[in-house]
Amino acid sequence: MKFIDLGRQYNKIKKNLDSRLINIMENTSFIMGKDVETLESQLANYVGVKHCISCANGTDALQIPLMAWEIGPGDAVFLPSFTFYATAEVVSLVGATPIFIDVEEENFNIDVNKLEIAICNVLNENKLTPRVIIPVDLFGLPANYNEIEKIAKKYNLLVLEDGAQGFGGKINDKVACSFGNIASTSFFPAKPLGCYGDGGAIFTNDDNLNNIMRSIRNHGQGSDRYDNVRIGLNSRLDTIQAAVLIEKLSIFDDELVLRNKIAKKYNELLDGYIKTPRIYENCLSSWAQYTLIARDKDQRAKIQEYLKTLDIPTMIYYPIPLHKQTVYSDNYTRYCDLSVCENLSDCVFSIPMHPYLTDEEILFITDSIKKCL
Ligand SMILES: *Cc1c(COP(=O)(O)O)cnc(C)c1O
Repeated sequence: MKFIDLGRQYNKIKKNLDSRLINIMENTSFIMGKDVETLESQLANYVGVKHCISCANGTDALQIPLMAWEIGPGDAVFLPSFTFYATAEVVSLVGATPIFIDVEEENFNIDVNKLEIAICNVLNENKLTPRVIIPVDLFGLPANYNEIEKIAKKYNLLVLEDGAQGFGGKINDKVACSFGNIASTSFFPAKPLGCYGDGGAIFTNDDNLNNIMRSIRNHGQGSDRYDNVRIGLNSRLDTIQAAVLIEKLSIFDDELVLRNKIAKKYNELLDGYIKTPRIYENCLSSWAQYTLIARDKDQRAKIQEYLKTLDIPTMIYYPIPLHKQTVYSDNYTRYCDLSVCENLSDCVFSIPMHPYLTDEEILFITDSIKKCL
């Protein structure tokens, strides 16, 4: 069994995608071809924001906004400690200081009470200037933007939504990647909307930031192609990846329905046996991952080992919180309690999740977990 079965998905789109790819190879428009522009307008439309700027990967999609805001040394950027490393890496890359915040055990997203405590502690210490909050839509569930936006307003901070795993999620009718001042996503193959290599995108309603970020994405290019007006990156999305994404976007809503049906089945079959993931009311998750919480590290290891003997793959997202990563562990300051994410790292594990899991597979996975428990 596969953890994410991209082969089954390819069979759904093979005919249209193959002809689209052949067309690009015949046109040889590999960089900034027509499909890149088409994709950007389709994505902006899907998310409901004015501008979509595609780029080379989800990490650059976080770094480019920080560069556009001129975030740098002396600035504090607040982010959850329970996320993929890139969320903090970009902060360090621009020379700013990542401030690690704990998450809520119920849904794995940033804890807004602890966020406010950390902001106040940074202000009281008076060494760093609070500038940005990067909430993460972990495992597909949008973060608590209602509360986050209130805090951002109160302390005059910018919000950058890390929607790398969140594309397709919703709070009421508002779609993920439309929250905050700027939002980012990733098209890494395993994400809810993935391409066949690396890719990413940035979303904003701000015309000025749109122009700056388009320039940064392409070596800081000015209006004259050979006049560079700022330091930028080589971070364009390949035309071939845009073509893959156009075809995948056409079946994305159907896949979102399937993912939610599967998550519901998992919940129903596993509730009462092991701690299942919760989502907020009025929210839709894109279920980038379906993550269970074992009682402790030993129980988790036993379940994972047992499932492995049955060829059921599992993964741990994330085994080490960011503040405990070697790169940060010696030289970070704790501005709030981080005990929840420390505990989660010992207990969480994710089971196969993709739109094409069959009922038989779902039953086999859940029955095996129950048997082991
Ligand atoms: C995957 C991921 C990224 C980075 O995306 P890449 O496309 O791999 O660079 C950033 N943040 C989160 C939360 C992610 O899951």
